Amino acid sequence: MNRFWSKRIQNIVPYTPGEQPKDRQFIKLNTNECPYSPSPKVIEAINRAAGDSLRLYPDPECVELRAAIAKREGLDINRVFCGNGSDEILAFAFQAFFDPDREVVFPKITYSFYPVYTDFFGLKRREVPMNPDFSDPIDLLCGNNGGVVLANPNAPTGIAVGLGTVEKLLNANPDVVVIVDEAYIDFGADSAVSLIGRYPNLLVVQTTSKSRALAGLRVGWAMGDAGLIDGLRCVRDSINSYTVDRLAQAGAAAAIRDEDYFQSIRRRVMDTRSWTEKSLKEKSFTVLNSQANFVFASHPNHSGKELLDGLRERGILVRWWDKPEIRNWLRISIGTDEDMEALVQALGELI
Ligand SMILES: *Cc1c(COP(=O)(O)O)cnc(C)c1O
Repeated sequence: MNRFWSKRIQNIVPYTPGEQPKDRQFIKLNTNECPYSPSPKVIEAINRAAGDSLRLYPDPECVELRAAIAKREGLDINRVFCGNGSDEILAFAFQAFFDPDREVVFPKITYSFYPVYTDFFGLKRREVPMNPDFSDPIDLLCGNNGGVVLANPNAPTGIAVGLGTVEKLLNANPDVVVIVDEAYIDFGADSAVSLIGRYPNLLVVQTTSKSRALAGLRVGWAMGDAGLIDGLRCVRDSINSYTVDRLAQAGAAAAIRDEDYFQSIRRRVMDTRSWTEKSLKEKSFTVLNSQANFVFASHPNHSGKELLDGLRERGILVRWWDKPEIRNWLRISIGTDEDMEALVQALGELI
């Protein structure tokens, strides 16, 4: 802290990103990145874009990228908005759709950026306790709210809800925006994109970071009624009109168009997840039913911190939170088959 800081940032506890070690000796299972390379077509597209045109600002409306997303999802292009990672989309959405006088609600155990945004933007929040089995407390998100945020599948639990449940949430909160954060939707759950058009309060947020192996490119997007998209545009153009750079727009559009590559890597991740779940259960771990590119696991006889530290000593990074409800749990990203064999072997030594 410093005496020149505004009161707003003096009082904020910012988000803590997962560690990105510079020496690449670790097996990195701590930030839900994809263990496979991006599509070769992405690299070609970025190389083509890396030329003289970098003198010029990028297209602020990301038309080529939005057209690729709109085509894949069967949406009108005016129902798509692109940003610099879905974190930026979420930050814009909190400012565009939520007011300080009413509480924004979300589950107690979820993506830890949500409470940071409500604090930073001066919004009230209500964090709803999880069901005992760690599933989302949907009934408690229905009612008199100023807005709803649901990660589906949830993080760090990996548990997904079905579309009927999403519809229940939309019907129970007809006068406020319901943000469905689908960062992990491509690993087995059903997307709420199919509900757009029927629910004017629905905003679906997705990203290239996880299922398209492009966390380093920073591209995310929102899909919803054109009125909501205009709201996001209004916030963006009050802060920074050129949020998605030329290389990112070109690379992300190529990624969206390369459906075959996308299908092959997400399948591999899901297959490796099944093997990992089975192997951890054989070692007496409790593993929640994940529809994401990570698993959430705990062991009856060993604390989460003890396993976290033991894995680190063995060169494996995973994620752990010092929160009472989940102190005994580890979130383990799905890596390659070899990564997960090394993880299971290391955990076998530790328990
Ligand atoms: C990873 C993640 C994001 C952020 O994705 P970016 O597009 O990389 O900013 C958003 N929401 C959830 C739940 C995530 O896990």
